[in-house]
Amino acid sequence: MTTQLDTLKARFEEAKAENLDLDMRRGKPGPEQLDLSLAMLDLVTADDYRTATGDDPRNYGGLDGIPEMKSFFKEFLEVSSEAEVVIGGNSSLTLMHDTVARAMSHGVAGSEKPWGKLDKVKFICPSPGYDRHFAICEHFGIEMITVDIDADGPNMEQVEALVKADDSIKGIWVVPKYANPTGLTVSEEVVYRLANMTTAANDFRIFWDNAYAVHHLNEEGDALANILEACKAANQADRVFIFGSTSKITFAGSGVSAVAGSENNMEWLRGHLAFQTIGPDKLNQVRHMRFFKDFNGLKEHMKKHAAIIKPKFDAVLEVLERELGGKGLANWTNPNGGYFISLDLNEGQAKKVVALANELGVKLTGAGATFPYKNDPKDSNIRLAPTYPSIEEIKKAMEVVCLCVELAASSEA
Ligand code: PMP
Repeated sequence: MTTQLDTLKARFEEAKAENLDLDMRRGKPGPEQLDLSLAMLDLVTADDYRTATGDDPRNYGGLDGIPEMKSFFKEFLEVSSEAEVVIGGNSSLTLMHDTVARAMSHGVAGSEKPWGKLDKVKFICPSPGYDRHFAICEHFGIEMITVDIDADGPNMEQVEALVKADDSIKGIWVVPKYANPTGLTVSEEVVYRLANMTTAANDFRIFWDNAYAVHHLNEEGDALANILEACKAANQADRVFIFGSTSKITFAGSGVSAVAGSENNMEWLRGHLAFQTIGPDKLNQVRHMRFFKDFNGLKEHMKKHAAIIKPKFDAVLEVLERELGGKGLANWTNPNGGYFISLDLNEGQAKKVVALANELGVKLTGAGATFPYKNDPKDSNIRLAPTYPSIEEIKKAMEVVCLCVELAASSEA
């Protein structure tokens, strides 16, 4: 008699014979998305390149960005004045890395000592989270403390108890909207509690990485409460650094990044930046501003992205539901925006499934990658990134993933 396991094994061998080569790993925009911004390349020309105020962007200067780019990111990052914004280069990850580096070498505004001179520096890492945040911590020898993520954001009971008790905890990473990889948006209550919690360290900072602020998949986007306003109201205006970029809006490798925060924090930042650069790439800023025109232009542009990537998310969800729905083998998120779907298997299954899928030519983000030290304590989370492959590739890859989930679970029985 043929058992279910025999059938799954036979399907596995059939899939193997197909010699697939599919990749669901990194959250990169697909080529059609990049094409949406091609016109931008023609907007700065040899005889037309000046800023909106008529300045010459070819030369040095303009340390924290051209005025129209600052106004644009003021709206984007939802702060109240241009003085609360600093424009960076092409990558917000660089801004995050450099902010941590400066904190380590010099301390942040109000630090008694550079963080690097302390015996220990720790960060809270709500997980599953963004692997590159965790890599920055590892790179600087910052100890990571994993806390859970609930449906409304980081588990605040855990966060509040930790930061209250330990003055070596200097920071927390938060991707507040359509998070990488859960797709969840932090609730108003969590924003309020993060702004108001008592921290033993007087120079504690929230690293608020709003990478997916405008990346809605549906007409009605998630609402996110304003963290800087909440911090100001709590008398903690310096508590937060807010990051963002146009990487997943125009070109992933040639976008414009920005950081925002209290005037005091931005003064601190400009003071450090002046040692690092005589000014950013202002021609790219001009190009971006001519392309978007204003923040409304960006919103319209994001609808074109959604039209391309929503069917890709739907393809993942459709196969998951069809193949695994109601079987008790997995849960997955159905995000309203962002770049990822998070697949949670039963405990101890993620590594096995990633290895099996790899055998069939489907590359998945390494199991554990979404946790500090690449250690998923339950070995259950897999991050799915549907934006880059085609819909056909996604369907095929997801059928393979579902087969591997079933096979991993059955071989255990
Ligand atoms: N933050 C998050 C949460 C991301 O997912 C990514 C891209 N994968 C980045 C930052 C990188 O942004 P940038 O290209 O601006 O460095």
